[in-house]
Amino acid sequence: MPHLNVLDDSSPPEDSRAGTLTAAAALREVSSVGGGIKGIYVHVPFCAHRCHYCDFFTIAGRDEQRADYVARLLNEAQAALPKFPVGVRTVFIGGGTPTHLPIDSLEALLSGLGSLLRAGGHTIEEWTIEANPDTVTPDVAAVLAAGGVNRVSIGAQSFHEGSLAALERNHDPSNVSRAVELVRAAGISDVSIDLIFAVPGQPEPLELWRSDVDEALALDPSHLSCYNLSYELGTPLRRRLDTGAIERVSNEIEAEMYEFTIERLAAAGYEQYEVSNWARPGRRCLHNLLYWRNENWWPLGPSGSGHVNGRRWRNVPRLGPWLQGSGLPPVDTVEQLDIDGQLGERLMLGLRLNEGVPRAVVEAALSAPSRGEARRVTLDEAIQKGLLAWHQDHLVLSPSGLLIADAIIGDLL
Ligand code: SF4
Repeated sequence: MPHLNVLDDSSPPEDSRAGTLTAAAALREVSSVGGGIKGIYVHVPFCAHRCHYCDFFTIAGRDEQRADYVARLLNEAQAALPKFPVGVRTVFIGGGTPTHLPIDSLEALLSGLGSLLRAGGHTIEEWTIEANPDTVTPDVAAVLAAGGVNRVSIGAQSFHEGSLAALERNHDPSNVSRAVELVRAAGISDVSIDLIFAVPGQPEPLELWRSDVDEALALDPSHLSCYNLSYELGTPLRRRLDTGAIERVSNEIEAEMYEFTIERLAAAGYEQYEVSNWARPGRRCLHNLLYWRNENWWPLGPSGSGHVNGRRWRNVPRLGPWLQGSGLPPVDTVEQLDIDGQLGERLMLGLRLNEGVPRAVVEAALSAPSRGEARRVTLDEAIQKGLLAWHQDHLVLSPSGLLIADAIIGDLL
């Protein structure tokens, strides 16, 4: 996959800053190709505390910059959004902890973005915000509802203090149900709950996970995301693993946890539509589906990543340089995938979805000049082993393939 330096962009310079050049080039593409930006991702980097497993771009202890952040974000939005053809359908405000913004800043952010979107003629079907359970108050819930948010994703991760302590998350688990109630009372019915399984160092890990799933189900969310814990490089959690201070949950128990999740949520009426995501019928996350279907979306905020027609880029992941700019922000990396890379990516992303990958896309990926033949061998082997299958003219992961989805997808890419 070619990795372009931002200076390699062939578009004529509009600004002496390389980062602005590439963001501007992506923006020109949106306008000229009719780019079809369908979603906007807003990255709010502030958190009250940094959890030990987290490798997102987050900042704890610089709360005095939150108001400046919102002003700069709206300035960035003003530079980009008016150029989008009508057609944005989703907004996703993530982080970080967006609800860690002071309430007047949160209100300003929502109303500023909402005004720009309305002025552009966009009809937003789904507006999601991520929330830490401790930060949801009646006032915050009211501001979210008034600001157009119609979906709240609550980072519960676990209902057990031992698991939360192992992750160095410092919210009170009893606040999850309170947050769900407050959000619903404000008129937002779409609530998603995030859970993490395979947390190390817990007695009876399987029983504990079963109880986490059941506690989440008792809150009747419209959507659930259940991820196995990953040990990302550079995190304190990874260091503890590498020094032997903690041990991973065994693969066998982790697989049992995942299988339990699939069975329990299906029995409770949730459709698994992606490797780690389940929804009530009609409540899939439209914004995340844009990512998995390789559609176009635009990022706002430091470290936000975007995609337009095979070009991917990331806004600079540092608050200072991002704050100091004006208009489109500097970016730090740009990838322009060649056709082979784009087909591989469609295969990789599409296989995460239960709907799978249409046969025509698979055939194109297998015919690609550089990786096609190797992919065909890998795919045939995976089908013979029962890990992949054809279903209604789509290539899908089988139930046993789901358990090792990352490995299969990595091989095919
Ligand atoms: S609250 Fe979320 S974004 Fe912030 S440090 Fe913890 S895991 Fe990362």
